[in-house]
Amino acid sequence: MFKYAKSPLVLALAMVALSVIGEFSQMLEQMYWNVWYKIHSEPASSEYVLVSLDDGEPMAPDSVGVSTAKQARLLDLVAKARPKAIYIDFPQVIGRDEAGDAALEAALARSKGISAIVYRAEFEKYGFVSLPAKSDFKFAPGTPALASTWNVNFISYVESAPAYVFARNGRPIETVAARGASRQIDRAIVPNFAMNPDDIPRLSGREILASGVPPGDLSGRIIFITVTSPSAASAMGYFGHKRQPGAILDIAATEGRKEGSTLRLGGIPLLLIFMVMFVIGQRYVNGRWKLLHYGVLMLILLVLPAKFRSLGVLINPDFALLAAITYLPLRFAEKWRERIKLTNAASGLPSIDALASEPQLQSHDVVAASISQYEQMLATLPRELHGECARQIARRLSLGSNDSVIYDNDNGHFVWLETSRTLEELVDHLEGLKALFSSPLQIEQHVLDTNIHFGLDRNWQSSPISRIQAALASASEAQGKSKLYEEFGRQRLEMSGWELSMHARIDEGLRTGAIWLALQPQYELASHSIFGAEALIRWNDPERGFIPPDEFILQAERSGRIEDLTYWTFERAMEMSGALNRIMRIQISVNLSARMVDHPALVRRIAAIAERHHCDPHMITIEVTETFSMTNREKAKENLSELRELGFKLSIDDFGTGQASLSYLSEIPSDEVKIDRRFINGIVHNERQRAIVESVVHLSHALGQHAVAEGVEDSATLEILRKMGCDYAQGYHLAMPMKFSEFVDLLARARTRNGDLVPKSG
Ligand code: C2E
Ligand code: MG
Ligand code: MG
Repeated sequence: MFKYAKSPLVLALAMVALSVIGEFSQMLEQMYWNVWYKIHSEPASSEYVLVSLDDGEPMAPDSVGVSTAKQARLLDLVAKARPKAIYIDFPQVIGRDEAGDAALEAALARSKGISAIVYRAEFEKYGFVSLPAKSDFKFAPGTPALASTWNVNFISYVESAPAYVFARNGRPIETVAARGASRQIDRAIVPNFAMNPDDIPRLSGREILASGVPPGDLSGRIIFITVTSPSAASAMGYFGHKRQPGAILDIAATEGRKEGSTLRLGGIPLLLIFMVMFVIGQRYVNGRWKLLHYGVLMLILLVLPAKFRSLGVLINPDFALLAAITYLPLRFAEKWRERIKLTNAASGLPSIDALASEPQLQSHDVVAASISQYEQMLATLPRELHGECARQIARRLSLGSNDSVIYDNDNGHFVWLETSRTLEELVDHLEGLKALFSSPLQIEQHVLDTNIHFGLDRNWQSSPISRIQAALASASEAQGKSKLYEEFGRQRLEMSGWELSMHARIDEGLRTGAIWLALQPQYELASHSIFGAEALIRWNDPERGFIPPDEFILQAERSGRIEDLTYWTFERAMEMSGALNRIMRIQISVNLSARMVDHPALVRRIAAIAERHHCDPHMITIEVTETFSMTNREKAKENLSELRELGFKLSIDDFGTGQASLSYLSEIPSDEVKIDRRFINGIVHNERQRAIVESVVHLSHALGQHAVAEGVEDSATLEILRKMGCDYAQGYHLAMPMKFSEFVDLLARARTRNGDLVPKSG
């Protein structure tokens, strides 16, 4: 309901309703007719002549003007020229000159049948005029008299002549316009403003008095002996031509009467036309047709009232115009807001919202690209170049993808549509795109290296938003795994439902034993003996088989299940440690989710678990990654320090892959640095990696820490690490992650082989 109340159409109609109370729609009507008659002007009929008594100049208010004696002479002179009718429309000042008054009365009597005195109505109140209440008519009762009176609008523009006859001193007086009408006109007469008032010939009264009527000028015509100054008291607004003397309005009304009676329908019919056509227009899907329809609607609003007026039907355009001009800016603002939503503010490229409403989505593959280290890139650029950076990336992507429209999802994520093809072809294409990004971006004087990873969604039947999200998530995943691309497969799709029930599944897995803790032995390189093990979580789901921890730990973190899972791991690992350390000293490493490092209850709960299992904190190493909570870094550091004070050892896991390895190293009170397997992998063949690993080993030692290598997959790697002086190693070459019982067996075998185990030092 409230939604509709805010729609532009409803607001426009409310505006119309308000205008009925406030009467401000008249302004539009005024503007409409003024403009219409300015552009739509016709030559006036040659039937009328004005005999000017003021020569078009304003007369002083107290001026006696032209005396009644002179008027009498003028009337006689004009009457002689055989006109059709003579109207004396002049403010007589009766009673100053008895003889003059009598002469005028006599002249009127002489020209009886063609002449008449015009009584000009006085302005009584806004929009309504009437004849003067006080009679100053001193002429004989039989002297012909006519009335001139108007309905006017809010700025005294004439709209119509209100009536045919006024009762005056007990006798009826016709209006000038209605004079000679064969039958009574019921409705008001609407003047023909199309008549150009400047066309009506004007003669000077003074010149006629001095040298007579020019021959042939007046015969058969209708003469107004009157004032012609536009600022005369009788002057009123005349649409399209500003103010005009009253006589001109009488002429326009006389011409208007000729066109027949007028039917006045008010503003409602056009408003209804507007609404009906508006609703029809809303149904067009095609933008061009819609625009054409609204164009026709505007034309109708603008032309129909004028056309109908010439047919004698008066339709007011005001309500419809008010509705249209209220609606248009509101709708425009609404569109603008939608548009802003549909474009990315920084780059000006279309946003993901725009892509979501793209119909082609249903028949195309969605590709997302994720630019590595985008935020760092932006950090090196001044703010005003951020948009250009995004645009340049989009240009490259578009160039390599048949000019596809590239949608910008901020922070180095871009999405677009690709025509369907085989996965092989698509991957070829992505490889080509990646090659385009091998040369650095040049943004003004800044040169930036980039790397790009892609995510695909080819599940056409899914909803637009979820497809886009799937492609974006896959791109991030590809980036995380340093792969060219990652596809959001059907399998994953089915899994999304599965992921939703993560809560229940984890509980069930813990209860049934589908989730268990493996131990991967760690060796001391100098003695080649087992000194400990890393506890690694395992999930063998009866339905889905082996689920890699990377995958479900991320899910558990997202679904808020990570706490239970982590404390369960600590519980199991400390239980094992307690059991093992009753026989021999074995260091157990446990992974702590980065999300939990700043939890307030962390230290208390871990300490409680250790106590319950009679586990010596010195025999537990807690592994944290460098990406731990950036939100509450202080609390995280505090927790880690407290754990260390309790005797737990701290290890920096996956060293070298996080965001700020060195600053981390200086901030965290760690005991051990675990060099990520991505570095270890390459040390046999890659000299640079070897140099990096070696320097990390030295760095660890310089800081009084042990260096641990993970992911040792062959003997050559192990040999190099040993030579480097790396302290400990872990990897498939040494031992796979195994069950607790297998680990115990392994320890027993090693013991018989080597005598006693070498416990981890420190
Ligand atoms: P991580 O802590 O770096 O664990 C080492 C990973 O390397 C383990 O993968 C291990 O199986 C694997 N690995 C060991 N030797 C080799 C090798 O020679 N070559 C290769 N390619 N890989 C090797 P896993 O078990 O899949 O665990 C992956 C990650 O999941 C772990 O990385 C850790 O971050 C997380 N994780 C595992 N268990 C837990 C847990 O109990 N709690 C938490 N919070 N995270 C866990
Ligand atoms: Mg680890
Ligand atoms: Mg690791």
